[in-house]
Amino acid sequence: MRSRVRRGRLPIVVIGSGVAGMATALAAAPAPVRLLCRAKDGSGSASALAQGGIAAALDEGDGVEAHVRDTLEAGARHNDVAAVRWLCKAAPATVAWLEAQGVAFDHGPDGCLQFGREGGHGAFRIVHAGGDATGAALVHALRAKVQAAPHVQWRRGVDAEALLLRDGCVAGVRVRDARGRQEVIEAAAVVLATGGIGALYAHTSNPPGADGAGLALAMAAGAATRDLEFVQFHPTALAVDGHSLPLLTEALRGAGAGLVDAAGEPLMRGLHSLGDLAPRDVVARRVWQARQQGGGAWLDAMSIQGDWSIRFPTVLKACLAHGLDPRREPLPITPVAHFHMGGVATGLDGCSSLSGLYAVGEVACNGVHGANRLASNSLLEAVAGGRRLGAALSVATPVAMQGTHRWSERGASLPREYLPALRELLWRAAGPVREGMALRDAWRVCTAAAAAGWQMRLAKALLRAMRRRRRSLGAHCREDRGCPM
Ligand SMILES: Cc1cc2nc3c(=O)[nH]c(=O)nc-3n(C[C@H](O)[C@H](O)[C@H](O)COP(=O)(O)OP(=O)(O)OC[C@H]3O[C@@H](n4cnc5c(N)ncnc54)[C@H](O)[C@@H]3O)c2cc1C
Repeated sequence: MRSRVRRGRLPIVVIGSGVAGMATALAAAPAPVRLLCRAKDGSGSASALAQGGIAAALDEGDGVEAHVRDTLEAGARHNDVAAVRWLCKAAPATVAWLEAQGVAFDHGPDGCLQFGREGGHGAFRIVHAGGDATGAALVHALRAKVQAAPHVQWRRGVDAEALLLRDGCVAGVRVRDARGRQEVIEAAAVVLATGGIGALYAHTSNPPGADGAGLALAMAAGAATRDLEFVQFHPTALAVDGHSLPLLTEALRGAGAGLVDAAGEPLMRGLHSLGDLAPRDVVARRVWQARQQGGGAWLDAMSIQGDWSIRFPTVLKACLAHGLDPRREPLPITPVAHFHMGGVATGLDGCSSLSGLYAVGEVACNGVHGANRLASNSLLEAVAGGRRLGAALSVATPVAMQGTHRWSERGASLPREYLPALRELLWRAAGPVREGMALRDAWRVCTAAAAAGWQMRLAKALLRAMRRRRRSLGAHCREDRGCPM
């Protein structure tokens, strides 16, 4: 095993190169940063797949208070109000910063920013870049800045598998590459920016690497977690074979697409005053129910005007790749695991309960999203939170640690052949609609198999949180405890 102990200042180690990790790394200048990610080419983040956009109260007639209200409403008022105020206030400056990094947001013919609308938003306040390719545009721009930044060293193709603890403080990380070679990197601070857990489910919009590895690493070291039971399901992914399914952005419904049943009748009729643009959890449960009843559900987007290759190039390409043309036929849909509101418990400054360990982006939970994230608030939070954390770390004085050290191991992975069964178990018991007995049985399975791999232990922790919250709240729907279907 190679050991990298730097002579000068120890680096800040940022695990994850989605938008949260890259924003943290850039803002930490001039402190040295080692940015780590799993894929050899730096791909594989959820950030690159984001379609909808970024929420910011920038339009005339909109305001920070309205954005705050909608965020709290979507979050079932389980949110940390101070965190919500901070986020909504930071949104306009975050968009301006991204523009300064080279992100070209879409403008109308009048030269002004174009604003879209998504479920739960009472105003047109979503900015996009490249139509529905916003995430890819952000990743492209930030990546260029990271690659040009002299203070950042980007190490790709490694999995962070253990944390080094010295005097009880997190002081480094051990990584392993695809050939099994290990390396120790001592650090002034370790930042988890490892994304969500969607890939633990049988059907997800997330990339396969969004498996909760960073959350499992933090939990193994004893870091506190929060709100693990709250998982958001997106109502409209393309119902085709596979694990990571193409998303059909909510912006399609904002542009006039409608949800229909097999007979072409509106699926949301009489269910919610906002109809097809009702909050995500409400729509996801309706689509889930329609599919459970065997009737199926479709998104009819044929009425959308304009050039699809400009407005929705990502959706168009994904549909055509599966032999479906959204301009000519309704698209079969399914809900998918999409976003984890819970995670490593942090304050707004990204500090976890363990000294030296920080978390930012989807892996973290500072309470901003409450029990259900408002659409297009997560890229915003990942970038704003990353900038805030990076700036704080750039001026932090590293504590000299010389005491005894120990390794906190995430542990071996579940054998590959067992993963589909675990994903199916979570999909059935811990999906958009949950029930006490099914949660208990699934928890027992994970408890019995906990030694088989870290994914089992993580699933057990998620199921435990879901069992403990007996009442329905936000995205956590307990069918046996008054869930509004
Ligand atoms: C299809 C889709 C559409 C979305 N649309 C929107 C949208 O329109 N607006 C919005 O606000 N949000 C959207 N979201 C949510 C948003 O994209 C994510 O919440 C956000 O991008 C998360 O960013 P992140 O940097 O925290 O994590 P990610 O972008 O997922 O990055 C995680 C990084 O961690 C690395 N990593 C993980 N584990 C390890 C490990 N053990 N060792 C080393 N590296 C590791 C990965 O390689 C990756 O680089 C969407 C999500 C999806 C999946």
